[in-house]
Amino acid sequence: MGLVTLTGLVLSASDVGEFDRRLVILTREAGKVTAFAKGARRPNNPMVAVCSPFVFGQFSAYEGRNSYHITRADIKSYFRDLVTDYEKVCLGSYFLEVAERKSAEGLDERMRLALLYQSLKAIESGRFSHRLLRDIYELKTWVIDGEYPNVFSCTVCGAKENLAMFSIKNHGMVCSKCSNLQSGIKISNSALYTLQFIVSSPLEKLYTFVLNEETEEEVTRLITGYRNSYHPYKYKSEEFL
Ligand SMILES: [Zn+2]
Repeated sequence: MGLVTLTGLVLSASDVGEFDRRLVILTREAGKVTAFAKGARRPNNPMVAVCSPFVFGQFSAYEGRNSYHITRADIKSYFRDLVTDYEKVCLGSYFLEVAERKSAEGLDERMRLALLYQSLKAIESGRFSHRLLRDIYELKTWVIDGEYPNVFSCTVCGAKENLAMFSIKNHGMVCSKCSNLQSGIKISNSALYTLQFIVSSPLEKLYTFVLNEETEEEVTRLITGYRNSYHPYKYKSEEFL
């Protein structure tokens, strides 16, 4: 058992035995890990505050065969503006649940961790509607997992110009020449540009754009349609959105 330092975000926490806590943490170094904090529920234990969802920081831990044992934590953020607002917590909890389900142990999950971190910051900022935040987060999650629509070329002929329609069946765009052969939803240039931006943007720039209401409406409709067809899994925390 070696002592390691893990940088990560607590996705979920549950009580174990009389005084311990079990955490699932999304880490930079080891993907998703299970970690135990012994005695974390004893009164005055400094680990009490550390063992909650949304906590982000560095954890010193002993590595066991299947899990870690945390000895110390250095907290960088609690996402305080998020956890004190009911609606923000609901959306944030949903983001955590998606990340927990989609991530794996021992894999490189740095992109997912960065997406989650930026997305929680974006919830805190209050600059986006919650439905748009959810759409951006989910589309980018599908990009990380390689299961996303092609929004850069025609899914029939490969043309990169005159992309006129979004076809759920085809997993992406259809150009105006091919549009009479396929069924799909007509798409405006600004909605297309928004989808392209979300798919290709680096994570630190992801939450830097503004949309008018009409475009937001359109983008939401397209992403919701795609989600219902290809990502229909029902999350527990979804009920509260
Ligand atoms: Zn085409």
